[in-house]
Amino acid sequence: MPGKRDYYEILGVSRSASLEEIKKAYRKLALKYHPDRNPGNKEAEEKFKEASEAYQVLSDPERRAQYDRFGHAAFEQGAGGFGGFDFSATTFEDLFGEIFGEFFGTGRARGRSRARRGEDLRYDLEISFEEAAFGAEKTIQVPRLATCDACRGRGTKDGAERATCPTCRGSGQIRYQQGFFTIAKNCGQCGGQGTIIRDPCRVCGGSGVVQKTRTLNVRIPAGVDTGTRLKLSGEGEVGRGGGPPGDLYVVLRVREHPLFRRDGVNVLCEVPISFTQAALGAEIEVPTLEGKVKMKIPPGTQSGTVLRLRGKGVPELQGHGRGDQLVRILVEVPRKLSQKQRELLEEFARVSGEEVHPLTKGFFEKMKEIFG
Ligand SMILES: [Zn+2]
Ligand SMILES: [Zn+2]
Repeated sequence: MPGKRDYYEILGVSRSASLEEIKKAYRKLALKYHPDRNPGNKEAEEKFKEASEAYQVLSDPERRAQYDRFGHAAFEQGAGGFGGFDFSATTFEDLFGEIFGEFFGTGRARGRSRARRGEDLRYDLEISFEEAAFGAEKTIQVPRLATCDACRGRGTKDGAERATCPTCRGSGQIRYQQGFFTIAKNCGQCGGQGTIIRDPCRVCGGSGVVQKTRTLNVRIPAGVDTGTRLKLSGEGEVGRGGGPPGDLYVVLRVREHPLFRRDGVNVLCEVPISFTQAALGAEIEVPTLEGKVKMKIPPGTQSGTVLRLRGKGVPELQGHGRGDQLVRILVEVPRKLSQKQRELLEEFARVSGEEVHPLTKGFFEKMKEIFG
């Protein structure tokens, strides 16, 4: 072909240009001379064609090597075996799908209805304080989208084969001529799938999925707390187009306990004792997660004292240790006194010297220092 321009010159790149540079150069030219942007402009159309031809050769390592050795002669009829240039819709589409997809939105048309992973699901589960501490097996009912059994996910009545789309004849795309080029778009009737449903499944209405409640067993490990997430792989929504299912996340909420609170692996509780028990000392019963245990109250125990029951807390999640139970002692002062009790206490007060109340003594001494 006499007077044909050099491909490198057309794209404005050096002979040693990388594939990236070639793509970039072509993209720039193609955007500038694209027929959509230059309707009826013969010169732009020629430039676009020229650039596309250069790109087709230079972006293909084999063709580029041929071109580098033989020049345009490499592609003349019968010479290199490559024949002429194919500007059919397929080539154009591939070209645009590959490097211009994000610009023209045609790139997404490639690969049609791609397989899609199912959505992840969240399930909020409330458990008791003890279940959180020691673990449990729970059965949950999870509503989720699942493959329709009636049509086996096909969406057709009784799961029959889907019919070929009459509009695109199964290709999933509609092609139309625009100037020199054939443009391809996703078929509107079948949404690019190439097939349609003539007689939709009565159960799912053609969607191929139905809302189903699944019963699942969840193993709750010991030591979980409010906010702990348990992942059940593959138990989320079903995937589309053969894609894998999503995951199910069980998010835990621990119910409050009438006696206990949690602080990490430790269990906190408050135990009231009488002021005589506090003064004289006693052995009392204290609730723990595993029932009642006896605990010694030393004589002279003050209100607010925290006593520790080692190893009576919550097991560490994914660990071997176990927390403690911290028992906060509340000394109760009697609200009502009988005549006898009053007399005894008045007698007690008379015989009590300051030495039985060191805190009180210290307090009044400090006050005296400050205020005189
Ligand atoms: Zn169609
Ligand atoms: Zn169905």
